[in-house]
Amino acid sequence: MSETTSTNEIRETVILGSGCAGLTAAIYAARSNLKPLVLEGHEPGGQLSITTLVENFPGWPEGIQGPQLIENMKLQAARFGADFAMNHLASVDLSKHPFELNLGQTSVRTRSLIIASGASARWLGLPSEHALIGHGVSSCATCDGFFFSGKEIAVIGGGDSAMEEAIFLTRFASKVTIIHRSAQFRASRIMLERAIAHPQIKFMTNTQVEEVLGVEEKEVRGLRLRNRVTNEHTVLPVSAMFLGIGHEPNAKMFHGQIDLDADGYILTANNVFTTLNSVPVPGVFACGDVQDRRYRQAITAAGSGCMAALEVEKYLEEHGH
Ligand code: NDP
Repeated sequence: MSETTSTNEIRETVILGSGCAGLTAAIYAARSNLKPLVLEGHEPGGQLSITTLVENFPGWPEGIQGPQLIENMKLQAARFGADFAMNHLASVDLSKHPFELNLGQTSVRTRSLIIASGASARWLGLPSEHALIGHGVSSCATCDGFFFSGKEIAVIGGGDSAMEEAIFLTRFASKVTIIHRSAQFRASRIMLERAIAHPQIKFMTNTQVEEVLGVEEKEVRGLRLRNRVTNEHTVLPVSAMFLGIGHEPNAKMFHGQIDLDADGYILTANNVFTTLNSVPVPGVFACGDVQDRRYRQAITAAGSGCMAALEVEKYLEEHGH
């Protein structure tokens, strides 16, 4: 066991998650001499670690690879004294101070907690899809759309995310086909009508993706589809598949301990304060995609990570630490 997970020591702060929000919180907390412990979690580096070129993070005029950006942030946090552990949180009782985080084989005690556990894009779960993530399969149109200028692409889903992605992607793609497994759409009327009216967008309903083609070539070549009504199989030649089937916030373990919205996102007051029945939960802050269903950008996640760390500092100071 490393000293970072010793049960005797009480940490000033522990940060749950090592994406953009968690690492920015770690940089700020470390620079305040709080020696934060970052629990890297199930998806170390978060969603940026599975993207390619990030072109909208300020300060990188030529863009920067997502994994490199994350690595830089991690080095920056470590330089100021942040500790990292690969563990992830099994459970915690937020009503007992200091909080004792159960990490499975071990545990750690802390006076404050920053939840930056992110949201995970939903995937179809096909092996071929998994193999081509970053090679034409993407869950982020804003990040990766640019790479498919003049190409034909597919967007999967029937909600607002899929409509929004498809409309956005028409800036680059010559044609966007929305593939939806059902006949009815969840998307709001206005978004759906906008997509239907768009000359570059076509629809396929009752249609399921069975395989992403191009695994051997290491780039998406097309999709093997099945019509769920007629059972007919077809191949749609496309250069990319964008998933727009929703995100899952990684906050299930806090159910009943802090307020979550109907889809499981953490509800925060004043950006980063968690609440239970609308009453603040002392010492527990949330930042990044686990509490943001609206913007979901690297830079907004980083910004809220900074806010959470500043609030931790204030909280600890007010409580005499
Ligand atoms: P939704 O849950 O609304 O829609 C998800 C869609 O993906 C559904 O059509 C669903 O199909 C489909 N889907 C889910 N799982 C699978 C699967 N395994 N295979 C194939 N299809 C699947 O999620 P969204 O992300 O679209 O929206 C979430 C929330 O965010 C909504 O409240 C939405 O209004 C909001 N939002 C608003 C935006 C805006 O206003 N600009 C933009 C984006 C989101 P089925 O219908 O068959 O279940």
